[in-house]
Amino acid sequence: MSASPNTPSLEKGSANLSAAKVKGHNESLPAATAAVTAATSTQKYLWTELPRIEPPKRNAAERSADFKEIYSLFDAETVQAQASRCIQCAMPFCMMGCPLSNRIPEWLGLAAEGRFLEAAAVSQATSNMPEICSRVCPQERLCEGMCTLIERTDPIPIGAIEKFINEYAFSHGGVEIRKVMPNGKTVAVIGAGPAGLACADELAMRGYAVTVFESLPNLGGLLVNGIPSFKMEKSVLDRRVNILRQRGVQFVPNVTIGKDIALSELLAQHDAIFLGMGAQKNKELDIPGGELKGIHQALPFLIEKNLGEASKLPPIPVQGKRVAVLGGGDTAMDCLRTAIRSGAREAVCIYRRDLANMPGSRREYKNALEEGAQFEFLTNPVALEGDLNGCVKQVRCVRMELGEPDAKGRRKPYPVPGSEFNIPAEVLLVAYGFDPVPFPPNTEWSQIQVNDWGGVIVDEYQMTTLPKVFSGGDQVRGANLVVHSVRDGRKAAAGIDRFLKG
Ligand code: SF4
Repeated sequence: MSASPNTPSLEKGSANLSAAKVKGHNESLPAATAAVTAATSTQKYLWTELPRIEPPKRNAAERSADFKEIYSLFDAETVQAQASRCIQCAMPFCMMGCPLSNRIPEWLGLAAEGRFLEAAAVSQATSNMPEICSRVCPQERLCEGMCTLIERTDPIPIGAIEKFINEYAFSHGGVEIRKVMPNGKTVAVIGAGPAGLACADELAMRGYAVTVFESLPNLGGLLVNGIPSFKMEKSVLDRRVNILRQRGVQFVPNVTIGKDIALSELLAQHDAIFLGMGAQKNKELDIPGGELKGIHQALPFLIEKNLGEASKLPPIPVQGKRVAVLGGGDTAMDCLRTAIRSGAREAVCIYRRDLANMPGSRREYKNALEEGAQFEFLTNPVALEGDLNGCVKQVRCVRMELGEPDAKGRRKPYPVPGSEFNIPAEVLLVAYGFDPVPFPPNTEWSQIQVNDWGGVIVDEYQMTTLPKVFSGGDQVRGANLVVHSVRDGRKAAAGIDRFLKG
């Protein structure tokens, strides 16, 4: 991590923490928390004097020229100041906004005192990859979106503080690899994405012998293939995978269960199985012209640009081309920003609702806008038109207007008659989302029931309809946030533990 802009410049900062007296994180957490509560009760109104500060971000021109992370760390003093804006409210809504129920006020209180190792220990108690979630969570929709301060001012920069304290822990020996007595039971985890890694980590910490099978050569699933390096550099994931290895987790890449090893064989060899195979089946583009050259699904494009030759995918050149991206989620934002970094002349997002109803993170939208992405809201593609060589040359679109909210509260878009127009594009990327890949029909997999879109059905302990087999993450929810997958992985590990202990 030494060359990364995210490497914390912590040595100097930590030396300055005179008030902080950074302690080892062996101190019991409740005692630490009590001390913090007392200390912070006198700081209840600091937020009126201290505005929120955003973490340092490279300027758009510089960052658009490479794939390195765009944010760097706060310095220690800024972390203390920003954390001290927390009012330690009696009803911590931020915790409710976090899918992991992270003990945010506790670690903010400790960080405010400069007790970063203790803060990180509290953070690690509820998250298997806080340094990853802090980078990729859309905080404005989760913890920060629920911060009590929002009623009066800007929220605490929770994600940036979480990132700092955990990077601090990594560089100061604050990530503990406890040795656990083996309990004699074995679990197979299928899929090395965030759900699988979280489940494996939790189980290893409970003494299970865990083997993670991954069909691809690299580990991390969506974390390595789908998330571009400008949001999280690969070294961050490698470091986390190494921690799992040190906890005793075995990784077996390049193995497809059902092809290289039968599910029944795996079941016979292990006390339980966790399925975390994600959701990688593309939602198809169903308009005339879909067969033209130059039309690609978002995921292969991101994987090819993320991994280069190692992806073993055919290159998708965008240099000097106009790229249109269909969809309004985070994957669409990733495609736009990746296309710009890959030399596209233009990158235009075509989305059928308006900005207020767009599912993508506002932070990523803003970053994309700064980097030169364009947005055509309330616009729907109706056909693709090609040139004489059969290559896409423009997207025929229609303007949309929003009607009444549907059952989920989202306003349904309707086409405006006579509003057709063209958007020129030589490359079209389809980012309409993903569903789980269906199990092969009439096989042993058929014992695992799925719902109408292919999501695996699980009970309250994440167990599928096939006893001993658990599941979670995108395979159960459909494409969703990393932090939800981590939560499912943790919940499934607890379910497996409960099941095997009878
Ligand atoms: Fe916020 Fe995500 Fe961290 Fe939870 S895991 S505190 S939602 S950044």
